[in-house]
Amino acid sequence: MSEHEIHLAGGEIDTHFHALHIQNREVDVAGLLRQCMASGLQACIDVGTSETDIEDRYQLLSGIPGVYFAHGLYPSNADREDGDSALQVLEEALALPRTVALGEIGIDRYRDYATPELQRELLLHQVELANRHSLPVIIHNRDAEDELLSAFAECAPTCESVMHCYSGPVSFVPRFLDLGFSFSFGGNVTFKNAPTVREAMQAVPLDRLMLETDAPYLAPHPRRGRTNHPGLIGYTYDLVAGQRGIARDVLVASATENAKRVFGI
Ligand SMILES: [Zn+2]
Repeated sequence: MSEHEIHLAGGEIDTHFHALHIQNREVDVAGLLRQCMASGLQACIDVGTSETDIEDRYQLLSGIPGVYFAHGLYPSNADREDGDSALQVLEEALALPRTVALGEIGIDRYRDYATPELQRELLLHQVELANRHSLPVIIHNRDAEDELLSAFAECAPTCESVMHCYSGPVSFVPRFLDLGFSFSFGGNVTFKNAPTVREAMQAVPLDRLMLETDAPYLAPHPRRGRTNHPGLIGYTYDLVAGQRGIARDVLVASATENAKRVFGI
């Protein structure tokens, strides 16, 4: 596994990654995660995108201490004919060990997986499910701030929840904060051509700010373009601490405290 660089100072939490998607790139992800843990990663949350991935993810990861799970139906599931049975399988999975959230779920108007109406319907079913099980939700948002706020006006998460990999306009940050959301920023906050993501990051109070990889996607600068993994999250901590003008260990302490509070880990 030595070909995988680990850049951690110790204590970091990665609130969002996709183990199976890393594995699809021919990586021994279980071995890599054990190496990350041994190098100081405190915890990481493997996030699902369909009820069909749950069994494989447990088989791969349940033996690794520090790995937690979120299960959910990504917007691409919104036009499935078997939506009701998918939701039923999802609900049963929420009782599985180390399940800390429902996600990722949301609305994606960039890819237009299904009509915005169908995406909204699937989202609201799952918010209601999360509320019933007292779990936070992890929200995927692509160009859908207005649609999300309108959906949450009908049914808002009752637990403190997360806007994941936020890249929307800074003007919406206060609206989601008011709804009780925390924000998690991914490797794209480090990209030279992403000043608006940094602007949004600066608008989030420290006690509502978390960091993630969304691995294998969005590897942070200076590793942009590579296969991302939780061991590279240190680069994102480096940049965000520098941008906010705070010590790195202060950022690690607050971001991990926030993650523990939101996800109950
Ligand atoms: Zn994701």
